[in-house]
Amino acid sequence: MKVLRSRGPEIFDIELEKDLLAKNKGLAKENRKKFDHSNILAIDIMGSIGSGKTSLIKAILKRLGMGVKVAVIAGDLTTTIDAERIEAEGARVIQVNTGKECHLDANLIRQAIGRMKLDGVKVLFIENVGNLICPGEFPLGAHKRLVVTSVTEGPYTIVKHPYIFREADVIVLNKIDLAKPMKVSIPQLEKDARKINPRIPFIRTNAVKGIGITKVVDALGLKT
Ligand code: MG
Repeated sequence: MKVLRSRGPEIFDIELEKDLLAKNKGLAKENRKKFDHSNILAIDIMGSIGSGKTSLIKAILKRLGMGVKVAVIAGDLTTTIDAERIEAEGARVIQVNTGKECHLDANLIRQAIGRMKLDGVKVLFIENVGNLICPGEFPLGAHKRLVVTSVTEGPYTIVKHPYIFREADVIVLNKIDLAKPMKVSIPQLEKDARKINPRIPFIRTNAVKGIGITKVVDALGLKT
């Protein structure tokens, strides 16, 4: 089969992209300093649309029961649906709408934390924009990056997105109750993940029912 492999951005984009990624990295470092200075553990939640990022955050918040000691930055192109869902759990929430950008970046996070009251906050969740490509390249300054994928995305999601799963510190496989009807093998998905990221915690969840959430909380180093 003929395959054309891109070896990176088009020539006229190379300098621009390098510059952009370097600037983002610098701002991410500054964000991290701010988090550390305020004793806040920041967690970047990545995953496709519909994988269960918001449901997972809600389930974790419920389990932690920390109320306003948890803050959430909800990233989305245009809606406030996620922020409203999360607000119901009692956390402090800010919605960041990226317009047409497919990921959050460190500059947006810097602006968001500048607008939030973070006194007394111990944990900050950042729900990234829903896709498995762009967010991986833009660190935000979070201490941990978690990727959620669900069995409803089919059998090839992990093998097709090696970069983001390599970037992850924790992988969550959600909607495990639907594996059979979807004809998706959970052990195979775990194998795919281990090939990319051998020692990573791979946690099976049903976020809506609260299954596997204790393991996620432990893997993130959060205390209930
Ligand atoms: Mg969401």
